[in-house]
Amino acid sequence: MKLYSTKNREALTNLKHAVLKGLPDDNGLFMPLEIPRLPSEFLEHLSDFSFQEIAFTICKTLFKEVIPDSDLQAIIRDAVNFPAPVVKLDDEKYILELFHGPSLAFKDFGARFMAQLMSYFNQGESRELVILVATSGDTGGAVAAGFLQTPGTKVVILYPSGQVSMLQEKQLTTLGHNIVALEVKGTFDDCQAMVKQAFLDKELSGRIRLTSANSINISRLIPQTFYYFEAFKQLPKDNRDVVFCVPSGNFGNLTAGLMAHRMGLPVHYFIAATNANDVVPAYLDSGIFSPRPSVRTLSNAMDVGDPSNFARMVDLQEGKEEGSTWNNMQELISGYAFDDEQTRKGLAEVYRKYNYVIDPHGAVGFLALEQYQRHHPDTKGVILETAHPSKFLDEVERILNVKVAVPSRLAILAEREKKTVPMSTKFDGFKRWLLDNIA
Ligand SMILES: *Cc1c(COP(=O)(O)O)cnc(C)c1O
Repeated sequence: MKLYSTKNREALTNLKHAVLKGLPDDNGLFMPLEIPRLPSEFLEHLSDFSFQEIAFTICKTLFKEVIPDSDLQAIIRDAVNFPAPVVKLDDEKYILELFHGPSLAFKDFGARFMAQLMSYFNQGESRELVILVATSGDTGGAVAAGFLQTPGTKVVILYPSGQVSMLQEKQLTTLGHNIVALEVKGTFDDCQAMVKQAFLDKELSGRIRLTSANSINISRLIPQTFYYFEAFKQLPKDNRDVVFCVPSGNFGNLTAGLMAHRMGLPVHYFIAATNANDVVPAYLDSGIFSPRPSVRTLSNAMDVGDPSNFARMVDLQEGKEEGSTWNNMQELISGYAFDDEQTRKGLAEVYRKYNYVIDPHGAVGFLALEQYQRHHPDTKGVILETAHPSKFLDEVERILNVKVAVPSRLAILAEREKKTVPMSTKFDGFKRWLLDNIA
């Protein structure tokens, strides 16, 4: 398997390098040079395959011979170890629940698979791989759970003290084993600056094998293609066209859907659903992409003003002529945006009509699908439910006026004891700690 940088199609690299490095030196994004169609006997008999078998077929086709079959099976067994069930709302609307992993959000799929691949590619190295992550809450939880007890890896998380929710903090600070949480007396930006400086520090990179668990690592995107096939497999076989509706922020999830389409997923159309941060819906309408600072909303995991995966979306639809990238994109994707007031109404509507508790991100998806289906009835729409509603407990309970159950895997964390290393925002102290405790 070969990968190129979205900023330079000539500079090719291999999967191991792309996974361990995360980002190309030119600040582009790694993309597979070829996204082959999956074998037709697989596509025609999807329902005969388990979720793990689907994942295996995709990796095998994409990776070619990079990883031997038995190793690949072991990686997938450890990475894809929770389900992605489809729930029916009515004949036209379905929900794909992506929150059955340890941190209750779809990012668990990407984080677990990345952990397994990094650990695999680090085998035979004498030094363990140290993953540095700065988090404002959610990403750190998914990464920590994904790497927990993964051989040859250690995760060092920096988070701003007092600025994450109680349960988020417990997700970062109670796991133990190979996960260490540094509680920084500063902001998320301070944490991020410390991590960035660590990567630039020659002494640190000479003594510690450092890597980042960046959200745009290609190994986080690949496993997100698995569940599009897994969802398709569970839909009833009728004559309706299938439409996937993706609540989007950085557009990794939608990009994975476009890759699945390229691999032969028989999907008719995609819907990009956003909150007030609507630069992609605006592009789909106008052909003009104008990133701008993000604004805060209720569906805060989608508060992104300059989505990095847009470069990958463009690459997947690149046309030969001027303007044709936009046309190609319009033939496959429509965008809709909704404000917080509409999101609250959508959330309440789903509960009233279907007795289903959806989270604010999924509610944005529901509204977008509803709008699309006004002009395209008789389609089969699948909304990607990206997080469990209990992650947004206060807001959801206030809107619905009902109690929302917190899944036990999250609730038990509340009882666990928090363990952190207090840290100032001074880089020298952080560096000293790394050299004394990690090197
Ligand atoms: C990260 C996240 C999103 C946005 O996903 P992208 O792949 O960045 O578009 C949507 N919903 C939830 C709950 C998330 O955590």
